[in-house]
Amino acid sequence: MNLNESDPNVQRDKHASTTARRGNLHSQRTKWTFIQNTIAAPISWRREHWFLAGIVVSVIVIAGAVLPNWAAAMRERNAALPPTTLDVPLPALSPDDSALSAAIDAANSEPLVDDTGWQVVNVRSGQTLGDIFQQQGLGAADLARLLDDRNNTSALRNIHPGQEFAFLRNGDGSLHALRFDRDEHTRVIASFAADGLKQTTLERNIERRTHVAHGTIDGSLYGAGEAAGMSDALLAQLANAFGYDLDFAHDLRDGDNFTVVYDDVYREGERLRDGNVIAATFINRGKRYSAFRFTNRAGETLYYTEDGRPLRKSFLRMPVDFAKVTSRFSAARLHPILGTMRAHQGVDFAAPIGTPIHAAGAGKIAFRGWQSGYGNVVIVQHDAHHSTLYGHMSRFATEQIGQRVAQGQTIGFVGMTGLATGPHVHYEFRVDGQHRDPLTVTLPKPEPLPAAEFARFRSQTQPMLAKLKTLEATQLASAK
Ligand SMILES: [Zn+2]
Repeated sequence: MNLNESDPNVQRDKHASTTARRGNLHSQRTKWTFIQNTIAAPISWRREHWFLAGIVVSVIVIAGAVLPNWAAAMRERNAALPPTTLDVPLPALSPDDSALSAAIDAANSEPLVDDTGWQVVNVRSGQTLGDIFQQQGLGAADLARLLDDRNNTSALRNIHPGQEFAFLRNGDGSLHALRFDRDEHTRVIASFAADGLKQTTLERNIERRTHVAHGTIDGSLYGAGEAAGMSDALLAQLANAFGYDLDFAHDLRDGDNFTVVYDDVYREGERLRDGNVIAATFINRGKRYSAFRFTNRAGETLYYTEDGRPLRKSFLRMPVDFAKVTSRFSAARLHPILGTMRAHQGVDFAAPIGTPIHAAGAGKIAFRGWQSGYGNVVIVQHDAHHSTLYGHMSRFATEQIGQRVAQGQTIGFVGMTGLATGPHVHYEFRVDGQHRDPLTVTLPKPEPLPAAEFARFRSQTQPMLAKLKTLEATQLASAK
């Protein structure tokens, strides 16, 4: 059997060569060393290919299943939220603000709408703040005055459906005050008087309440999460935390179980939103995994194992989200133009032009410029041994040569500069100068927390670990 003809990638390349005169010449025209790997044969990779393709598909399927549910869950929760009450010490108001004072008092007692005088407007999809202000008889000048206070900027510039604005009118119908939430814990009441705009801010009490949940898989992770009383969003956090080690689409078995410490956020005693998964253990086919949320000295909040190792890997498998692999790493693929067998020393990920390209790992920008064939290229040097290359970028991000980048940081955008038949990123992974298949190469283990930080980590996580273990034991006992 002729392997090349049965290889779908080769077929695609042939097709590309007939439909477009331009093709990928990555391996031919580059400053990188050309290393022909003659040992590996396509057949030996095939199983891994399907396996990896399966992972990619399942990640997309999970994301597709999770995101709409999550969005729906958030919507329902918002809709079900009773009117929020205010129970905060109010700043003293001047006597001529008595109407405002009364209104604030009224706003403190339920219900908020109508009989308290405030007319509540919930932002609808597609509405701008300008639209709402106009409806309420407020001009652009009023909006500009509110925006003069920089603290208001993010609340007023990026309004979202469901956000609430309330308006209070004088007896003659003119506008007396506007009320909105600057952020989760700050409410602003702006009163319009002859002598200008006056702002009163009310600090609202925000607290986080901690919960513990335990779930046992019987069919699906989401079924188990629901039974344990967890929201889909929190369950997604749990799945993400363990996602580097566990393939939830394929590895889960009935009887697997998890124990989670998480919190949710309350405002003025009413539930506002989901918080975070703080600590969790997951037992998959008898093997125990743990995850602890911890903010390291660099200010990054990550999940760590109980030994203080980040769960996150030192490299991302792919530098673009939700991209499709269109050409694999190959010792010999049919060259689309030359018609001969050539190595493809990286992996091509197709994605729309302008899609952000992420640094696969933390490192320094070693090259940023044009290379024949590759077009706009960035090379990141990660340590003494590892470097990655990203080709065909439409444009670069702002980072210059020599600058440090974090894992996941955007370093450029998908394009088709150089020799490319369509928008994609050509991604190469080198270990000590040797090209390796980025999809299968054994990635180095991430560095554990340094000793000084580990002590802080330990004192912070030890009580939680004890709690999780106790709960696990109780659940196991009761299950018998
Ligand atoms: Zn390529």
